[in-house]
Amino acid sequence: MCSSEKGEKDNAMRVIAQTQKCIASGNCALTCPQIFEQRDEDGVVHVINEHPSLDLLERVKQVVDLCPAQVFRMEDEDKVEELTIVEDDSDV
Ligand code: SF4
Repeated sequence: MCSSEKGEKDNAMRVIAQTQKCIASGNCALTCPQIFEQRDEDGVVHVINEHPSLDLLERVKQVVDLCPAQVFRMEDEDKVEELTIVEDDSDV
């Protein structure tokens, strides 16, 4: 399993948004506007809170499940002390 690539904290569950896959449906921003919004220019997902409260974890899991383009990838799901959300705009 891949560990922290960008120097993120080791005790954090990570959710990676692969923005190249986004089809701008808007489900994420509707479901969890505390963390996700859509870019003005093209509607692609943008993470506005990279270190949200764990209170939002269930909401984030809903976002992961509901995204029609499977944009989100979860890593280190057993690390429940912190939640880190990052964008990855590399090619998929
Ligand atoms: S739900 Fe998925 S496809 Fe829709 S805007 Fe969010 S990340 Fe993009």
